[in-house]
Amino acid sequence: MKKNFPLKNIFAAAAILFSVQAQAASNEVNIYTTREPGLLTPILEQFTKDTGIKANTVFVKDGLAERVATEGAKSPADILMTVDIGRLTELVDKGLTQSIDNKVLNERIPEQYRAADGQWYALSLRDRILYAAKELDLASFHYEDLADPKWKGKVCIRSGQHPYNISLFAAMIAHHGAEKTEEWLKGVKANLARKAAGGDREVARDILAGICDIGIANAYYVGRMLNAEPGSEQHQWGEAIKVIRPTFSGTTDGGTHANVSGASVAKHSPNKENAIKLLEYLVSDSAQSMYAKTNYEYPVVAGVELDPIVASFGEFKADKLPMTEVAKNRKAASELVDKVGFDN
Ligand code: FE
Repeated sequence: MKKNFPLKNIFAAAAILFSVQAQAASNEVNIYTTREPGLLTPILEQFTKDTGIKANTVFVKDGLAERVATEGAKSPADILMTVDIGRLTELVDKGLTQSIDNKVLNERIPEQYRAADGQWYALSLRDRILYAAKELDLASFHYEDLADPKWKGKVCIRSGQHPYNISLFAAMIAHHGAEKTEEWLKGVKANLARKAAGGDREVARDILAGICDIGIANAYYVGRMLNAEPGSEQHQWGEAIKVIRPTFSGTTDGGTHANVSGASVAKHSPNKENAIKLLEYLVSDSAQSMYAKTNYEYPVVAGVELDPIVASFGEFKADKLPMTEVAKNRKAASELVDKVGFDN
């Protein structure tokens, strides 16, 4: 401890320690999540049955980092759960998480999908794929092909600034550099059938409407569309497309880009042991399968049973780029989107 450490700080620290111990005795775990709580409910019920630990969820739709920061050392949050590598690393960068060194997590989760220092762990993968009109004679695709002039006026995609696209474009920078990515973005922009806007499902909607032939969107929306009520609009959109998992060309591994959902142990977690137990549980085979199936995502743990629709997309070979490389290039990707006027 530093000299001249003010007495009031020591008291404050003692008070925090006391409250932490008081809460730790409660045999609970508190999860702050930006994800729909319904995704987790069946898994948490099973967790409580197996461990006797009560799991409380707090749904924080927006401003998770701000809320935890404001609560400070008194925050009851044990686990911070969210989607997108940008949001996960934001929590780390703001000092709201802590390092975990855990054998189970390190063995179960591939290295590219967790922080080297244990500050965050991915729990599921969200592959960003090609939706193509069903009748198109197309069996494989490279992300780079989106800029091919043969697709002029035929490509649909949501805003370039959306985190899903930023992470894809950041991966492109990591593979090919900023200059080539800028050229590519210009080419994709030139091929757009309509303004880069809307959501991922609108790609399927606009393929059905004949506005575009191909587009980029997350795979899990296909699961949601095909599981919608038969005859509903969404179901028809899902029926109008086929799925191709694109890969990056000119790279040695040639895999498909996937973003992540994930979690961290909160910096001031009052029930840290329980938090780690829950994370371990979430990467078990059964929880992984449930977690991925509930939202048609891809499990982060290999060899786990897939949702049947997800399984129908065929083999998933993920891009081997570490997510930290994606995170590093997000800012540059966002600047390029503005520079080429992608969303204009
Ligand atoms: Fe989404």
